[in-house]
Amino acid sequence: MSAKDVLKLIKDEEVEYVDVRFTDPRGKLQHVTLISDLVDEDFFEEGFMFDGSSIAGWKSIDQSDMKLIADPKSAYIDPFYAEKTLCLHCNVVEPDTGEPYSRDPRGTAVKAEAYLKSTGIGDVAYFGPEAEFFVFDDVRYSVTPQKVGYQIDAVDAAWNTDTEYEMGNQAHRAPHKGGYFPVNPIDAGQDLRSEMLSTMKRMGMKVDKHHHEVASAQHELGLIFGTLTEQADNLQKYKYVIHNVAAAYGKTATFMPKPMKGDNGSGMHVNMSIWKDGKPLFAGDKYADLSQEALWFIGGLLKHAKTLNAFTNPSTNSYKRLIPGFEAPVLRAYSARNRSGCVRIPWTESPKAKRVEARFPDPSANPYLAFAALLMAGLDGIKNKIDPGPASDKDLYDLPPEELAEIPTVCGSLREALECLERDHDFLLAGDVFTKDQIEGYLALKWEEVYAYEHTPHPIEYQMYYSC
Ligand code: GLN
Ligand code: MG
Ligand code: MG
Ligand code: MG
Repeated sequence: MSAKDVLKLIKDEEVEYVDVRFTDPRGKLQHVTLISDLVDEDFFEEGFMFDGSSIAGWKSIDQSDMKLIADPKSAYIDPFYAEKTLCLHCNVVEPDTGEPYSRDPRGTAVKAEAYLKSTGIGDVAYFGPEAEFFVFDDVRYSVTPQKVGYQIDAVDAAWNTDTEYEMGNQAHRAPHKGGYFPVNPIDAGQDLRSEMLSTMKRMGMKVDKHHHEVASAQHELGLIFGTLTEQADNLQKYKYVIHNVAAAYGKTATFMPKPMKGDNGSGMHVNMSIWKDGKPLFAGDKYADLSQEALWFIGGLLKHAKTLNAFTNPSTNSYKRLIPGFEAPVLRAYSARNRSGCVRIPWTESPKAKRVEARFPDPSANPYLAFAALLMAGLDGIKNKIDPGPASDKDLYDLPPEELAEIPTVCGSLREALECLERDHDFLLAGDVFTKDQIEGYLALKWEEVYAYEHTPHPIEYQMYYSC
């Protein structure tokens, strides 16, 4: 959609408001609502000023003015607001020079796509994220004494969410790891997920399926692949719709990677491929019908995985998911078959569908930064011909302990990931896609989270040490 099309849409659909939206470094969608009369031809060129100092990790109060430049291609009608409102995702620019603001995540995604072209390696990269999430009952809407208990025990909350009208029902509950794929009434999320997916479809998103996931109260909806910035926009819409449809049902959705001990966490596998001259660059005659470039791309992902963790697994909670036994990867290995490594090559007969699946990312990631960082690591692999070594086709956890100990791992904590990002980030700076200033700002923000977490006594510590 061009700026002209957007203006026509506003007129034809009698749009009352225009919601301009952007994403902060932590990945949260932010917005400000304008009366639609303000949006004319100039609006897309001149932008809209706002105070950037109130956004965590951006400017200080003395240089707070920033400008939003709306991307007409991102336009959609908000499905939740009572008044007809058109939404536009924006890039943030410096008001004086019009240059992209270096800490703007969406700007980084746009630069990563331009960088790919500039290397001559490919023309376009496609991203297919699979973001999982949990839905719990919202205690604000709860009336029964049992429901008040949800607040106290997250495990109970999940079980009860899967049996919507639970009063005394002990039969149709999804046991731990029992959610995949029994029909209703064990799966009580059918209507909720269908409504989420239909809403996305009405917003113009390309979607294909939905299903219950392995953990109780865990779900996944299928987005069809798209280009980097487009798909990061889609992921922001995906989360927005899921949060809001859940709220309309009196429930709450969470993309927190590991809300429950003892059951699967929520991952965000990211499927990636690069195309050049209208052909899939990753299809070839090497291992798993991959091309040499695809293997080098994997080499780059595995080499930089621990730095990538700072963007793809950016919460202290992320590392409670990255443990053995819950289908989340720990080992820096790749395979066409087993799911215990960081990178899998999903089986497909079609060279067009040939892709590489990074399994370590989770949905607490800022999608603009995570996708851009993944692409930069893969491109670094191709540029430097980084050999990923042999594939690991055995179940890695069946290996003798000495062999297992040889395989490198992902990070074990956000602290470790930030330390890796501090040491290894040159590959992100290529083509000025990420900048030093941006990485510094991001690190400062994330260290705050590490300290908040490390300095807070944990409930389990009371159990382990209170009576010591
Ligand atoms: N929930 C798993 C993870 O944490 C993935 C499960 C699946 O999609 N097969 O990555
Ligand atoms: Mg999936
Ligand atoms: Mg899944
Ligand atoms: Mg997958």
